[in-house]
Amino acid sequence: MKMLVLGAGVIGTTAAWYLSQSGHEVTVVDRQTRAGNETSFANGGQISVSHAEPWANPHAPMKLVKWLARDDAPLLLRPRLDPAQWRWCVQFLIECLPSRTRHNIAQLVRLGLYSRASLQALRAETGIAYDHLQRGILHFYTDAHEFDAAQAPAQVMRDHGCEIEMIDADRCVQIEPALATARDRLVGGSFTPTDESGDAHRFTVELARLGGERGVQFLTGTRILGLTRVGDRIESVRVVDANGSPGTLRADAYVMALGSYSPLMLNKVGIDAPIYPTKGYSVTIPVGAQHTAPQVSLTDDEYKIVFSRLGDRLRCAGTAELNGYDTELNEVRCRAIVDRLFTLFPNAGDRSQVRYWTGLRPSTPSNVPLIGRSRIGNLYLNTGHGTLGWTHACGSGRALADIVSGRAPEVDFAFLGGARPKRNPAPALVNA
Ligand SMILES: Cc1cc2nc3c(=O)[nH]c(=O)nc-3n(C[C@H](O)[C@H](O)[C@H](O)COP(=O)(O)OP(=O)(O)OC[C@H]3O[C@@H](n4cnc5c(N)ncnc54)[C@H](O)[C@@H]3O)c2cc1C
Repeated sequence: MKMLVLGAGVIGTTAAWYLSQSGHEVTVVDRQTRAGNETSFANGGQISVSHAEPWANPHAPMKLVKWLARDDAPLLLRPRLDPAQWRWCVQFLIECLPSRTRHNIAQLVRLGLYSRASLQALRAETGIAYDHLQRGILHFYTDAHEFDAAQAPAQVMRDHGCEIEMIDADRCVQIEPALATARDRLVGGSFTPTDESGDAHRFTVELARLGGERGVQFLTGTRILGLTRVGDRIESVRVVDANGSPGTLRADAYVMALGSYSPLMLNKVGIDAPIYPTKGYSVTIPVGAQHTAPQVSLTDDEYKIVFSRLGDRLRCAGTAELNGYDTELNEVRCRAIVDRLFTLFPNAGDRSQVRYWTGLRPSTPSNVPLIGRSRIGNLYLNTGHGTLGWTHACGSGRALADIVSGRAPEVDFAFLGGARPKRNPAPALVNA
């Protein structure tokens, strides 16, 4: 089939790879000059299967109230006259119900396990390099109450097949010696040895290159204006190329992977996607031989920020702000991350060369992405990946290629369009 993938972030690029592997003729369209230049550009780098508790959980409403007036809050709502924002917030509160949270964790963990196994298989097949590390993820706590509260979600994730150890402060320092400078603050941690980390942008650029070698075509510098719907089919996509010339692209079927911008396009063809942009920040610093930056990927529970070592760089990312499509760098929020980084790790890297970045997570209220066939027969969705798009890229792309090709996906997930999983998914793929 002739497929048009809309968006060359980590999600669109990975979907294009698996579609092409399934024998489809694939073209990817993006307004940027190369793949992975928007939200997939400088994220936290974690392949975080076992820390999949969504923001929407029973403890979230109280925390949100506590954080309301703080400009440096980990999760910040800036109220706007925007019905989409208010509707999203109401749906978010519903997803905080314990039964919804349990359901959502199960979805995210299943997709995560499958996705990590698919990433490992892709790495073995292609040798793709992206500063990846297989040293696990250590989520550390500085508040005893929060550490106690983490036991229950850890058990839920264990029940779904995640390897997760609750450990004391000394063991945290043993696993990541750079934490010695923060030893007095630590009360404990949860360590997930099979989680990974790596540079999502490097991965996306490399996979686009490998895909190009195998026939995937990338139309970069091409802005999508809208989809043309005729009856229950998408007939074409209206675009403007890098020279400003308008055009029309046609295919047998289309994949929506425009990240945070997906709902704007989908609305116009009558599909309501509950996706709202949640803005996050990252800082990246160079690390030399004289520095003592962490090697194991870390999550700081108190500040909700993550640290990933990417070769000779340290990436520190986090915070979420519901403020529409605004992509301005807020100085207070940037400073909060840098201050926390150097408070915990005074010798982490070169502070004079900090690079700031901000990106819009395409977030659904539950953090569960929208994957599968839409109500429009030849339009597929792979979007709304929120906080875990890098973690879920390979699994969602591979499952989508199965669905498009008429095969049962190998993972048990609530796909759109009701695609049912294979009866006996290969254990190696689900639990590797
Ligand atoms: C601070 C931060 C930290 C994060 N940390 C992690 C992490 O540690 N682990 C993890 O798993 N995930 C993490 N994420 C989430 C992850 O980065 C996202 O879920 C993922 O990048 C989303 O990918 P995407 O391809 O859907 O979106 P994008 O990467 O934004 O791709 C969408 C593409 O669509 C294109 N596009 C949009 N509109 C148009 C148009 N009109 N015409 C043409 N092209 C268009 C854009 O140019 C873009 O390339 C983090 C996110 C942030 C912000």
